[in-house]
Amino acid sequence: MPTKRPRQCAVAGCSAIIPIGEVYCTIHRKEKFKRYEQTRDIKIKRFYSTQVWKDFRRMKLARNPLCELCLAETGRPVEAKMVHHLDPVTEGGTFLPTFEETQSVCYKHHAILHPKGVIKSSIHA
Ligand SMILES: [Zn+2]
Ligand SMILES: [Zn+2]
Ligand SMILES: [Zn+2]
Repeated sequence: MPTKRPRQCAVAGCSAIIPIGEVYCTIHRKEKFKRYEQTRDIKIKRFYSTQVWKDFRRMKLARNPLCELCLAETGRPVEAKMVHHLDPVTEGGTFLPTFEETQSVCYKHHAILHPKGVIKSSIHA
């Protein structure tokens, strides 16, 4: 049986052995991910505080003042609290979508749309 060469963490100087398919050891993966999250969060936060987004959000909520998902599910009118990007910015979606690319949703549905809680509601609103 051929012996598999042990794979090492891609961070220079780190000799931790990692499983096949991984690039970094647990410690460095967490570190890289955290850094990525931080820069992404800053960009997103900046965007959500721009006048462009505030105007867009206001217009969207004026167009669709009720939670679109509540309406679709139960037909009950529930006030929309958030404007949700269908193509999340966090997954490479455009910052400024069209009205069709967003949904007016209530808090409950917004939490369902982000099961991992990727976006803190405060900055996504
Ligand atoms: Zn490492
Ligand atoms: Zn809802
Ligand atoms: Zn959302």
